[in-house]
Amino acid sequence: MKKKTVLILGAGFGGLELAARLSDDLADEVHVILIDHNDGFTFGFSKLDVLFANHTPEEVRIPYAELTRPGVEFRQEHITSIDPATRRVATDQSDYQTDILVIALGADYEPEATPGFSEDGHDFYTVDGAARLRDRLTEFTGGTIVLGILSVPFKCPPAPYEALLLLHAHLVERGIRDAATIKVISPMPSPIPVSPETSESLITAMAERGIIYRPDTKIRSLDPNQHLVHTDTDTVPYDLFIGIPKHRVPGVIDASGLTAGGSDGWIAVDPATLATKHAGVYAIGDCADAPVPRAGVYAEDAARTVAAHIAAQLHGTPFTAKYSGRGVCYIEFGDGQVGKVEADFLSGPKPTAPFIGPSTDLADEKAEFANTRRHRWFSRSEAER
Ligand SMILES: Cc1cc2nc3c(=O)[nH]c(=O)nc-3n(C[C@H](O)[C@H](O)[C@H](O)COP(=O)(O)OP(=O)(O)OC[C@H]3O[C@@H](n4cnc5c(N)ncnc54)[C@H](O)[C@@H]3O)c2cc1C
Repeated sequence: MKKKTVLILGAGFGGLELAARLSDDLADEVHVILIDHNDGFTFGFSKLDVLFANHTPEEVRIPYAELTRPGVEFRQEHITSIDPATRRVATDQSDYQTDILVIALGADYEPEATPGFSEDGHDFYTVDGAARLRDRLTEFTGGTIVLGILSVPFKCPPAPYEALLLLHAHLVERGIRDAATIKVISPMPSPIPVSPETSESLITAMAERGIIYRPDTKIRSLDPNQHLVHTDTDTVPYDLFIGIPKHRVPGVIDASGLTAGGSDGWIAVDPATLATKHAGVYAIGDCADAPVPRAGVYAEDAARTVAAHIAAQLHGTPFTAKYSGRGVCYIEFGDGQVGKVEADFLSGPKPTAPFIGPSTDLADEKAEFANTRRHRWFSRSEAER
């Protein structure tokens, strides 16, 4: 039987998980081509290690050259156009016509959506941004630090609060915490609305550390000359502004027409299967308009669903599994303490997200989470299948 080609665009959390699943379950039936313009994968949470744990960008990057999964071919190319109706994709090096197309290109940022932010703001949502902010913090000796969430949705809803708690610990360690005021401004009513327990724990942790939390407040712009944040009700002075930039789909998705019918410019998908309206075309992870937060663990769960859907289609069997939007998020509280929220968005009548309080055991569990992914995605051998 001739193998079907599965073209996966984007080798991030979702793309890597899908490639691994197809390699495990369908290596004899599909040829997987995995495309990404980068030469390696970096976990989202590793950006916090660049910022606060003295890790270099090279240390946290896992090179795609390590990917040795049977049936999976990695190509480092930049995707320049996608035609979902014909399943044709062009890159800077080649053209593809595929049987099955999976778009896993993640989310890009739009810092210019907030006037003044590109000129006078820092971010830690890219590896380069985290490295620049780390250098800026080295020079910081006191003053007001404002962290602003500039738009919703954004990747990993706990990440801004993790950064604040780690920032507090960092300034304490340097003996300059008393010289700094730390504020966070968010348009959301609480840190993690789906999990009141997690929100309460984060709000308490911030209050205990003297971090001023201002929910329900939209930031309109920054004044780079006077170092002022303009919110919808007032102005807030700052010495250092850190922003979570507005997120959007990568430009190549925008140009493909795939966002038609999706809310706020994300790709419309069937939430049960992650299929788009085009035959044989799926979208998973941050770029898809599925009713879950933007986080790697939900991209991973979406990849599992799509792998099962592809298998059912190939074998002509009914598809019984349904995307559950389930995932475990680890939350840094500083001083080596990590909490955990186990969310399930779609399998029950309403989302559930119980919280487990911070401990060093959970810090070990988080490290193990990263190790298992690295092993499963990059090098798990046939003998282990
Ligand atoms: C600070 C921070 C902390 C985080 N912590 C966590 C956490 O603890 N747990 C968690 O689950 N999630 C966390 N996240 C979120 C997580 O990183 C993302 O949600 C996740 O990576 C999304 O997976 P994805 O597959 O959709 O996209 P990505 O992992 O972003 O992968 C998309 C890939 O597409 C590639 N790409 C894009 N455009 C092109 C193109 N034109 N051509 C070729 N390649 C292209 C990119 O290079 C990228 O590799 C965190 C994020 C941040 C910023």
